Amino acid sequence: MPKVFIRNYLIFAAVLLVCVGSLGYILVSGDHQIDKSDSWVSYTHSIIIESEELNTRVAQMVASQRGYLVSGDEDFLTEYEERKAAVSRHVANLSDLTADNLSQQSRLQELRQYIAKLTEQLELTLDQYDVDASRLALDDMGVVKRLKKDIFRVNADFLEEEYGLLNQRIKIVENRKDQYLLTLLIGGSVAVILLMLFNGYLLRVQSKRSAAEAALGETEEVFKLAVEGTQDGVFDWNIKTDDVFYSDQFIAMLGCEKEDFIGTVEDFSTRLHPDEKDKVWEYIELYLDEQLSEYENTFQMRHKSGRWIWVKSRGKFIRDKQGKPSRMIGAHTDVSAEKEYEQRLQEAKIKAEQANRAKSDFLAHMSHEIRTPLTTISGAAEILQQNMKGLDKKRRELIKVLNSSSVSLKDLISDVLDFSKIESGELELEESAFDLSDAFEHIVSIMSVKTAEQNLDFKFNFDDVKDVRFYGDPVRLRQVLINLIGNAVKFTEKGHVHVTARSDKKDDVNILRIDVEDTGIGIARDQQDVVFERFKQADSSVSRKYGGTGLGLPISKNLVSLMGGDIQLQSVPGRGSTFTVILPMRSIGEDAEKRRTSKVKQHKINDQLRSIISDSDKILIVEDYEGNIVVLGYIMEEMGMEFDVARTGLEAVNQWKENHYDLVLMDIQMPEMDGFTATKQIRKMEKEQNLDATPIVGMTAHALIGDKDKCIEAGMDAYLPKPIVEIELKNTILRFLKLKNKAA
Ligand code: ADP
Repeated sequence: MPKVFIRNYLIFAAVLLVCVGSLGYILVSGDHQIDKSDSWVSYTHSIIIESEELNTRVAQMVASQRGYLVSGDEDFLTEYEERKAAVSRHVANLSDLTADNLSQQSRLQELRQYIAKLTEQLELTLDQYDVDASRLALDDMGVVKRLKKDIFRVNADFLEEEYGLLNQRIKIVENRKDQYLLTLLIGGSVAVILLMLFNGYLLRVQSKRSAAEAALGETEEVFKLAVEGTQDGVFDWNIKTDDVFYSDQFIAMLGCEKEDFIGTVEDFSTRLHPDEKDKVWEYIELYLDEQLSEYENTFQMRHKSGRWIWVKSRGKFIRDKQGKPSRMIGAHTDVSAEKEYEQRLQEAKIKAEQANRAKSDFLAHMSHEIRTPLTTISGAAEILQQNMKGLDKKRRELIKVLNSSSVSLKDLISDVLDFSKIESGELELEESAFDLSDAFEHIVSIMSVKTAEQNLDFKFNFDDVKDVRFYGDPVRLRQVLINLIGNAVKFTEKGHVHVTARSDKKDDVNILRIDVEDTGIGIARDQQDVVFERFKQADSSVSRKYGGTGLGLPISKNLVSLMGGDIQLQSVPGRGSTFTVILPMRSIGEDAEKRRTSKVKQHKINDQLRSIISDSDKILIVEDYEGNIVVLGYIMEEMGMEFDVARTGLEAVNQWKENHYDLVLMDIQMPEMDGFTATKQIRKMEKEQNLDATPIVGMTAHALIGDKDKCIEAGMDAYLPKPIVEIELKNTILRFLKLKNKAA
C-alpha cells in the first residue's frame, strides 16, 4: 500500500476518533446534566407535594377537632392525634428538604409557630369541651380560622417559591435537552460528513490507481510488443546483484535458447571475444564512472555455432538514491553484416589506395623521365627561336609552335609530377619568411602581359598586407595564385580580373584572404565541387574551347590544404567567379621569431634540447595517422627523446595511467575517443589522485575553426597547428622541459 495512503488513513482515523470521542463525552456529560436537572425537578416536586399535603393535613386536623366537638365521638380524637402527627411529619420533611434554602427555612419557622398556636388553640377548646361546647366552638372559630389562614398564607408563599424554582428547573432541563439534541445532531453530521469525505478520497485513490494500473498495463504491453518486434536484444542489468534480464531476441541473436542463459552478467561476459573482453569491461566501467558521457561500443560475441558476431551495444544507467549507478539498461544490435561490408570496403580501399599509389609512383617516375629529354627539346626549341633570322616564314612558324608546345608540355609534366607527389604524400612545403608584396609583385608582372593581350582590366590590390612578412612556401603560394589568376584570365573574354589580398580574423586566428574575381563564363552550381576533382573540367565544350587538363584546381586545393588553409568558390554562370584562398597567418610575434630562427638558431635549440633531456624523460605521441607517427618519431629520435605511441584517445588514457609522461602530444580527431575527451579524462584523474598536471599539447589540422579555444577548454596547455613545424615542436618541448626542471 502506498505510504501516502497510509498517512492519510491515519490522519483520518485520528480526526474520526477525536470527533467520536467528543461526541461520546458530550452524550455522557449531557445525559448526566439532564439527569441532575431532572432530579432537581422531582426534588422540588416532592417539596410541593409535602407542602400541599401540609395544607390538607392542617385542614383535616381542624376538621377532626370540630368533629369531636360536634359529635363527642372519641374516634375523632384519635384521628385528630394522627393528623397532628402527620402535620409535624410534613413540617419536619419540608425542613429537611429545604435545609439549604434560608428564605424557606424562615417561612417554615413561621409555619411552625402558627401550627403550634393552632394546635394550642384546638387543644384548649378540647380541654374545655364539657363547659359549653357550642359557645366555645363559636368563640374559637375566629381564632382558628385566622390561624388556619395564616398557615395557608405562609404555605402559599412557600409553595410559590417552590413553584418558581420548579419552573426554572424545568426550563433548564428543557434547555439542556435542546442543547443535547443540537450537539448530537452536529456531532453526528460531522462524523457522517467525515466518513463521506474519506469514502470519496478512497474512491478517488482507487480510481486513480486503477487508471494508473491500466496505463501501466498498456505501457508494459506496448513495451513488450516493442521489445519483441525490434531486431535489437534488450538487457536490464541490476548492477548490485549482477542479475540480468535478457530479452528473447538478445538470446536468439547469439543462437541460444532461454535455458542456455542463467540470468547473470556471466552470460554476457563469457561470450565476449577473449581479445576484447578486458577492453569491453573497461569501457563499461569508464561509462559507469561517468568518464564517458554515453555508452556505445561495438565488439564481438560468440554465437552458439562457434562463429563470432559483431554487436553494437548501447545503454544508459540508472542511479540509486545515493546517486550511484544501480541498473544499466540497453540494447544489442547485430551489426555483423555492416561490419563485413565495412571490412570489405576497407580492404577494397586499401587495394585501391595501393593501386593509386602505384599509379602515382608510375606517373611521378614517368614525368621525371619525360622531363629530362623534354628539357633538352624545349632548350633546343628556345635556341632555335632565338636564332630564326634568315629562315622563311613557314619554318619560323614551325619553330614557334615547337617552342610553345614544349613549354605547354613542360607545364603539364610539372602538374602531373606535382599531383603524383601530392597523392603519394611526397610533396613537402618549404617554410621560410618572405614579404607578401614581393611575391604579389612578381605575380603582377607575369599576369599583366597575358591580361593586356586579352584586353582585360587587371588589378591586384594588396595594400592591406603590403608590409606583412609571411611564413610559408613562397613558390607554392605563387603557383596557386598564378593558377587561379591564369584560369580567371583564360575563362574571361571581356571585363575584368580583380585580385584583392587582405588580412582578416576567423575564430581568433589571423588569416590571409585572397579573392580572385573575374567576369568570365562562371561555373554552374552542380559543377562547383567537381572542378576541384582531378582531371575534371566543368563540361566538355569548355575543354574543347579552352584546353587544359583539369589538374590546376585540385593541385591548388591540395597545396592550400597542406598549408592549413582552404579554397572557396562562388560563381554565377555567365556573370563570373570568385575563388577565395584562405591561409592561416602566424602572428607578428611568432613571425618575428621565425625570422630569427636561422640555421644557427636551429642548432642552438638542438643543443639546448640535448643538454636538457634526461634519460628518464618520456613523451607520449597520440596520433592515428601513420605518416605523422613516422615524422614525429623521427624528430624524437633525433633529439634523443624516449617516446611511446598511442593510436586512439582510449589507448592514450590507458598508457598515461601506466606511465605519467613528461609531455603528451595529442592529436584531436581519432577513432574510439577523440583528443578532447582523452585530455578531459586525464585531467579528471589527476585531480582525483592529486597528481601534478602532465603538459598536454594539442595538434590539429583544422587551424581555422577555433580548435585552439577548444583545446584550451578541454584542459590542454598548448596547441600546435598541423602540419607540424619541426622548430615549433622543438620549441614547445623545450619550454615544457624547462618548466618541469624549474618546478623540480
Ligand atoms: P584546367 O583549367 O586545366 O582545365 P583546372 O583544374 O584549373 O583545369 O580547372 C578545372 C575546370 O574548372 C576548368 O576546366 C573550368 O571548367 C573550370 N574553371 C576553373 N576556373 C574557372 C574560372 N575562373 N571561370 C570559369 N570556369 C573555371
